[in-house]
Parts: sequence; C-alpha cells; structure tokens
Amino acid sequence: MTLRPPGVLAPLPLGHIDMPRTAEPPAVDPAVSEFRPGAHETPSFFIWTLGCQMNQSDSEEMAGQLLAVGCERAPSMALADLIVINTCAVREHAEAKVIGRQGRLAELKVAKPGLRVVLTGCGVRESERSGLARRFPAVDMFLRPDEEPELALRLALVSAQAPVGLKMTATAATTVVSGRPVSAADHLAPNRATALSEGRVARSSSVSAWLPIVYGCDKTCTYCIVPFSRGPERSRPFDDILAEARDIAAAGFQELTLLGQNVNSYGHDLPPEERFEHICTERSSGRKLDLQGRPDLAELLRSIDAIRGADGLPAIRRLRFITSHPWDLSDRLIEAMAECPSVCENLHLPIQSGDDEMLQRMGRQYTVEHYRERLARIRDAVPGISVSTDVIVGFCGETEGQFQATLEVLEELQYDTVFAAAYSPRPGTPALRMADDVPAAVKRRRLNELLARQESIGLERNREWLGRDVEVLVERITPPRRHLDPDDADALDVEATNEPVSAVPQMYGSAGEGSVAMAGRTRHNKLVHLAGDPALVGQPVRVHIEHAGPFALRGHLVEAPGEPDVLA
Ligand code: SF4
Repeated sequence: MTLRPPGVLAPLPLGHIDMPRTAEPPAVDPAVSEFRPGAHETPSFFIWTLGCQMNQSDSEEMAGQLLAVGCERAPSMALADLIVINTCAVREHAEAKVIGRQGRLAELKVAKPGLRVVLTGCGVRESERSGLARRFPAVDMFLRPDEEPELALRLALVSAQAPVGLKMTATAATTVVSGRPVSAADHLAPNRATALSEGRVARSSSVSAWLPIVYGCDKTCTYCIVPFSRGPERSRPFDDILAEARDIAAAGFQELTLLGQNVNSYGHDLPPEERFEHICTERSSGRKLDLQGRPDLAELLRSIDAIRGADGLPAIRRLRFITSHPWDLSDRLIEAMAECPSVCENLHLPIQSGDDEMLQRMGRQYTVEHYRERLARIRDAVPGISVSTDVIVGFCGETEGQFQATLEVLEELQYDTVFAAAYSPRPGTPALRMADDVPAAVKRRRLNELLARQESIGLERNREWLGRDVEVLVERITPPRRHLDPDDADALDVEATNEPVSAVPQMYGSAGEGSVAMAGRTRHNKLVHLAGDPALVGQPVRVHIEHAGPFALRGHLVEAPGEPDVLA
C-alpha cells in the first residue's frame, strides 16, 4: 500500500530543542586528499521531501551522502547551492506542487547561476524519463528512487575512483514490469548497509527513527504508480534489519517505525532458511506464495521486541510499522502485535473502497468481507487498537450506490483516521485504460461528504480518551503560526526548526514558568497538544486528556517521565 502522507507517524522535524542526529563526516585520508574536490566547491544543500515516510527515509540517506562529502545544509531553498526535490507521484496534486515551483526555481537560478536542481522520488520513472525535462524545465538532473545512492557521484562531488567516503556496493539497474523498464531495488539493501556502516544516514529526528525493511511493490493496484517507480518488492536481509534496530536502540531512540510500501509482505522474496523453518503462513488473499521457512514481519517484530535494556524492558519503547496490506495480515502477525509489549496499539490498513466491484476494478484482490474479518481478528487480539485507513473516491465507474457503500463501511468499522482522496489518473498506470468518468464536481462532493462523515466519527473516537491519563512521547515544540516566506522550509510544508518558542496559549491554564506549547503522540498514534518544559522533547510523559477534537487531543502534564499507559 502507498505509504502514509506526512502527519502520520512521521517524525515531524522538531523544535529548536531536538537536533537531527548526523554522523561526523569520515576523516579525510591525507594520502588521497588530492582526489577530493576543493572544499570551496562543495555546495550547501536543501532537500525538499514530499510524500510518504519511505521518501523521508530516502532523504535521510541522500542528506547523509552530501554531509559525508563535506556539503552543509542550507536553511531554505533560496540560500542553497543545490536543491534536491524528492517527489511523490501517488496523486496528481503532489506532482502539481513541484510543477508549480518551476517558475520560482528558474528565478533562483537566474540569481545564482551555479545553482543545481535534482529531481528524484516516484515522479522519476524510467519509462517517462524522456518527457521529464519538458515538464520540469528548471531541473538539471533526474534520478529514479533506486539511483539516489549515486547522488554525490553523479554530481561529481566524489569521483568513482576516489576511495573517500562513499563506497557504492552496487549501482542502479532496471527490470521489466508489464513490458516496461522500471527501477530494480536489488542494490538498495546492500547500499543502505554500507551507508549505515559509514555513518551516512542523517536521521531527521532523535526521538523517532525510520527503518526501511522492504523496497518496491509487486501488488496490482490499477491506480498506483509505485510498482512502476520503485519496482518489485525487495526485502532487506533479516540480520541487517536487526543490526540496524540494535544501533537505533543503542543510540537512545524511543520509537522505531519499520517501513515498506507493503511492510507486512516482508520476507516472501528471501531464500528459506533452517532457522525460520517454524514459519509457515498462508496468504489469506491475493497472489499465493510459498512462504514456508522465510522470515516475515511477525518474526521481525518479535526479534526487535526481544532487544532488551538493562531494566529488562524493550530497548525500543515503541515499535511501529507502515503500511500494511490485507493480503499479508497473517494470524502470526496479529499474535505478534498482541504479544510484543513494544508494538504500539495502532495499525494503518488501507481499504480504498467499501464496494467489492470497485475493489476488483482497483486490482486490490480482496473483498470487503475478507477485510472485515481481518480487522475483527485484530480488534479481538488487541482491544482498543486504533486503526486508520486510506480511501479513494470517484474511481473509474464508481456509482452513487458504491460510494454510499463506502460511507456505510466507515460507519460500521469506525476508523480513528481516514486519509481520503479523489481519484486522479496517473500516467503509466493500468487504470489509465479505464474511463475516468466520474465528473470532477461529483468527486469533490463525494470527498467532502466522506471527510465530513469521518470528522464526526473521529471526534467520537477521540472523546473516548477524555479524562484519561495517557503516555505521550513528546516530539516537538509547536511554533506559533506566522507569515510564511515562500522559499522557507515551512512554505514547503516542512516545519520550521528555529522559531522562537511561543508563550503558552491560554488554553493550557496554569502551565509552569518557562513552559512552551508542544506536541507528541500516544501509543495509539493520537496527536496530543500540551505545555511543558522544552527539555521534555524526546521524553515519554503522562498527560491528563481534557479536550478532544476530531484530529487531536489536548491535556496537561501529570507526570514526566511516566510509565507506559495501559488500556483501561
Ligand atoms: S500498488 Fe497498491 S499496494 Fe503497491 S504501493 Fe500502490 S497502492 Fe500500495
């Protein structure tokens, strides 16, 4: 499933308290310093990341590369010598944002002739490379997602011969899907292992860490571009993932999120091993696969949960994973979710539509009944779990009755959060051969109706938390609203980092001297606003919930730091 847009589990770039953790660039060996480009030539860089957590994780690797060769971060696009735009192509709107900035980029290039712009992410697909320069005239270089490990090399910031810094374990390649060249992700796992060993992953938070476990997607959703931009599923070796999780625990991260377009499909492409012979899962829908003796997500969750601190508690306080697909929601995975104390009581499980004929046309290969059964199974195993989902309205041929069926499923299944979008045709997807026959006005009306319905459901779900004390992992200080300079990080929906902290708004009542407005999340992924000492960023605290809105909760501190909350 397409990974979540920002805002869900995304480690939001943090307030001025919590700085990104970046490894010191490796010392330059004087014997080879002649191979390094002169220090003055290394550009300051700015990475604009759109879309999902996998893009955020990829941007951390690109930033790590550039820092490793001596580049420095620029606070905004206007001040950068190198702009990297990591695009999302899941919706037309995401690409339109980048196209909409071409004019501004051209102005910046006139003001700074040496400025270079690189476009990467799912917006760069091999089969459409020839047309990209016309659509993005201000861009100098286009990189497919699987070519990102070669960013510094292709910018000649290092030379292939230079043994300095960036060892490349394997280079990019393509494979063929539905007769078309697409990225092949085979080399991404070894390259990440090398980047980690050289300290070249510039994590954007010191509270929450991303850990990609499977790249690409080989599902068949007809509306989706991801299989053509990221290629078939490629799982990282089990031991590489465990080693990275141990490092993340040792570095003191409180939260770890396992990433994959289909994170619960992890392992099906890995060779069977004796140590995993106890694993035998059946796919409950979709394409049948021999999963005997291969590691799966359940095994990973149990193994990461088993990494314990000196106190015998899980070294990673909160373990999350995103995004799941109903095909691979096995009983083994549900049992691991129920039995591993560090696994948070929260799941993102896209349904996309509440009508079987629509699901078939979307290529989802499961039925509403199958989905309903899996969700009920999870809710039995993990009482009170919060669940979010994705829905597309106005897909090709959707009738009013089929749309109403989707609304009825939302009423029945009572999601905590729904990410909904109106269908937009994507170039190169199978759905392009279908008639996009739902008028734009009808799509808009259906989207607004669904969002309004979900807003009242979300409010009722959040009201259940009123009066309770919950554990909140404080993620950031929330800066005051202010006028946005278009090149500033904020205007690109990346949160400001160095804003003067705001006085505590009235709504927090008698917050202590020096308190600031801040935000964090519960284990159920509820966004909670509170006030407190800036030093609490990165800490688990206990908050008494006194206000519930459709999208967030608010409360006051009762304990800092606190014990993990248990469901009533
Ligand atoms: S093809 Fe389907 S499962 Fe794969 S990323 Fe796209 S929406 Fe998700």
